Amino acid sequence: MSDLRDLAYWRKQAATVSIRSQAYIDGRWADAADGATFETINPATGKALARVAACGAQDVDRAVAAARKAFQSGVWSDTPRSARKATLLRLSHLIETHREELALLETLDMGKPIAETLQYDIPEAGRTYAWYAEAIDKIYDEIAPTGPGVLATITREPLGVVAAVVPWNYPLLMASWKVAPALAAGNSVVLKPAEQSPLTALRLAELAEEAGIPAGVFNVVPGLGAAAGQALGRHPDVDCIAFTGSTATGKRFMEYSGQSNLKRVWLECGGKSPHIVFDDCPDLDRAAQAAAIGIFSNQGEICIAGSRLYVQSGIYDAFMEKLEAHAARMQPGDPLDPATAMGAIVDGAQLQRVMSYVKSGEDEGARLRAGGKRAHTDSGGFYMQPTIFECPTQSLTIVREEIFGPVLAVTRFESEEEAIRMANDSPYGLGSGLWTSNLSRAHRVSRKLQAGLVWVNCYMDSDVTVPFGGVKQSGSGRDKSLHALDKYTDLKTTWISLA
Ligand code: NAD
Repeated sequence: MSDLRDLAYWRKQAATVSIRSQAYIDGRWADAADGATFETINPATGKALARVAACGAQDVDRAVAAARKAFQSGVWSDTPRSARKATLLRLSHLIETHREELALLETLDMGKPIAETLQYDIPEAGRTYAWYAEAIDKIYDEIAPTGPGVLATITREPLGVVAAVVPWNYPLLMASWKVAPALAAGNSVVLKPAEQSPLTALRLAELAEEAGIPAGVFNVVPGLGAAAGQALGRHPDVDCIAFTGSTATGKRFMEYSGQSNLKRVWLECGGKSPHIVFDDCPDLDRAAQAAAIGIFSNQGEICIAGSRLYVQSGIYDAFMEKLEAHAARMQPGDPLDPATAMGAIVDGAQLQRVMSYVKSGEDEGARLRAGGKRAHTDSGGFYMQPTIFECPTQSLTIVREEIFGPVLAVTRFESEEEAIRMANDSPYGLGSGLWTSNLSRAHRVSRKLQAGLVWVNCYMDSDVTVPFGGVKQSGSGRDKSLHALDKYTDLKTTWISLA
């Protein structure tokens, strides 16, 4: 165990880690049909890690055809649920067994701290397969209370071919939130990882094969959004798109669906989550720490990041002092160092985007209270200081738009009504948080917040047992919990005459 705390150990592992770079289609590894590749880099150094198959429409066609064939054959879809359970439990176990290797691949590919990938991303991904494996043979179908002379059954049927298109911020975990329930329900799956972070998805394919998932049931097509992503979105034989990513791309998937076969589209999109601290906050220091972690962990690249902080006047100055102190402890460092709390931004383009928001904050009259600059520029990587702006109004671009980086916009408020009004004044509705000692206020405000998730006196707590998703332009449908199975199954009604 002591090795896990040692930067030298991880550097040594990184030098020899093996990387899969081909697509996985119908149980076989293959280059893209046209031989195209794209480069995936290490955000900590800016250096290339590998060139990966850049799948296009032809590869997507092959993957969807393989998935359909496997589904029709019943090799997975018609097996007893207890058998699917056993296979998915094996996959969960393999993920746990390969936790170190997967954590290392994720950290190298995406730039997040090794402590996080090791303690959260990978174990949670493994747990997700185990949870849906355990759930699937405990769900019963229904018999409708019709009159005598007829038996009306309501059964859950798998959809067929599910395409999962996922982002780069939690590559294996976001994929698993979709792949695990979709497979447990009996579907075949085609997974397209983000082009910034394809490596753990490809390793997952290998582990899925080892666990005994039959050829064609699970396929991975790495590639660019506008090529592989679009081909899946428009494909006439894909029954469902399970998407996590930006709201702009989510809208495209709805268009693709309308222009092709009206496949169902489930969207987990962007956020600009409000985090409210009332004067009667039970523990200012804990709230300040949660506010700092809520925006700076994972380099701020979290859909539920508490990127809009609202602090009531009576505690404003005391709270801001504590917040600054907690932010100062989250300076960016080498993602391979187990002591690092904040790693590198995923790539140069994203860093540039975040820095342009810093400039916009300064130009539009926000007061820079901490950070605002790049860090470790000599590393060749993409590091940024945790940044705090005080914002005089809600109209600033940095208060309105999702930045997806370590930039916090803080606004002062006077009354509960004002806090609710400002919190809801956003096209997004994903996460939200509030700190209060008043139980009535906790209930009252959480009911009024337009968000899929509300945290009271905590922030970003998470568990596979609870639904995750948003309202408004943050998306539709829910990942995690038994409710996720609604996305990957259809209800079939069968009338049987008893006459
Ligand atoms: P993105 O929308 O750019 O990409 C997401 C996926 O869509 C990638 O696989 C990408 O290749 C693909 N894609 C991109 N353009 C496409 C196109 N034109 N057609 C088809 N596919 C396309 O998002 P991102 O930058 O990877 O991730 C950041 C975004 O994800 C943020 O907005 C964040 O809030 C959101 N996110 C949401 C959740 C959630 O659960 N709601 C979770 C994590 C991230």
